[in-house]
Amino acid sequence: MRSMLNHMRYAELIRPDSVRVWRDEGVRERLSWYYSVMRGDAPPKYIIVKNVPTSLRNREIPSLSTEELLSEHVKTRQEFGRLLDEIRGSSDPWRHVRVNGVEGVSFLDLKVELARRYSSPCRLCEWKCGALRSEGRMGYCRVAGVNSFVDNFFHHMGEEAPLIPSGTIFYVGCNFRCVYCQNWSISQREGYTAEEQSPEDLANIQTWLAAGGAKNINHVGGEPTPNIPAMLTSLKHLTIKTPQLWNSNMYLSEVAIELIKDVIDIWLPDLKYGNNGCALKYSIVKNYFDIVTRNIVIAHASGDMIIRHLVLPNHVDCCTSNVLKWISENAKRALVNIMDQYRPEYMVLRQPRKWEEIGRRVKAEEMDKAFRLAREYGFVGPVEDLWYVA
Ligand code: SF4
Repeated sequence: MRSMLNHMRYAELIRPDSVRVWRDEGVRERLSWYYSVMRGDAPPKYIIVKNVPTSLRNREIPSLSTEELLSEHVKTRQEFGRLLDEIRGSSDPWRHVRVNGVEGVSFLDLKVELARRYSSPCRLCEWKCGALRSEGRMGYCRVAGVNSFVDNFFHHMGEEAPLIPSGTIFYVGCNFRCVYCQNWSISQREGYTAEEQSPEDLANIQTWLAAGGAKNINHVGGEPTPNIPAMLTSLKHLTIKTPQLWNSNMYLSEVAIELIKDVIDIWLPDLKYGNNGCALKYSIVKNYFDIVTRNIVIAHASGDMIIRHLVLPNHVDCCTSNVLKWISENAKRALVNIMDQYRPEYMVLRQPRKWEEIGRRVKAEEMDKAFRLAREYGFVGPVEDLWYVA
């Protein structure tokens, strides 16, 4: 039945909240850019980025240093900002762009070149492990090369209500080692074991998802960050009018977030831990809270956002409370999904005594406390599972 029925219509039947949620003014206001792109009223940012010319010529790029390219990136962003403002204020936003972009070296071309340079030695996430990916070496994230490795892609009906159906692409590999990972068969797999997709393939996947009614293109994994070179390059081959969504642990390096922030229409970051210590213990990652909150602030200033907070058993006081307080003070425009879906998986099941304190589902009283804290910090909700600061 579903193959004969556009996925958007199917979603309206099985997830009526995906329609209902837009009746809420608070949701509409906080996701106003995403909403206008999703309806086709405004172009997605990646098309705008294609329409901003740089002052570079193709033949001079190999001789320019990375610092010179970064400086051009900063300059070109000012032009991008001007065009974006014009489009936001226009009664006919599509009049300002062509889907194929400008002739010559565009802002997107510049981003692709920088992403290629920063991927080998790789400094795309805060591990900055320096893997020579262009020579086939694998990074800490288990990804090698500059193509992407995709486990699967489909129209996801289980995401947050405003995102349904979500055209989701699951990349293999991850820069975290969460001991309770529910996707460990994807995240902890070596890239080589999945299907390698060139940027053109990746663009074809996105086009297929859009044609089937996807409201967005949802880059997830594992973790999408190691795939930034392929993702950005795929946008050169893409003409769909669908918003781009970044579904990530947000452990990107400063350069990586600067490269992608102009092409993403809606962000879906995880903010699990309220401190660095719990992150080090359960996800084996350093300076988590400092880095992830730094990136969420940058992303929040550049686009619409739904933050996911997974409540962990025995971590309401040390994590949930700090996370909700931080969001209420630093990411006030974001919607928040306070999630109760935690279940013991992966290493927690294999080594139950070692991970005993997170070896169960979250209790009802822990969720009640999380919701009580949300109200104390000024959130209202839930609206179809989403909260926001009033
Ligand atoms: S994205 Fe992967 S290869 Fe690149 S720095 Fe991070 S862990 Fe290393």
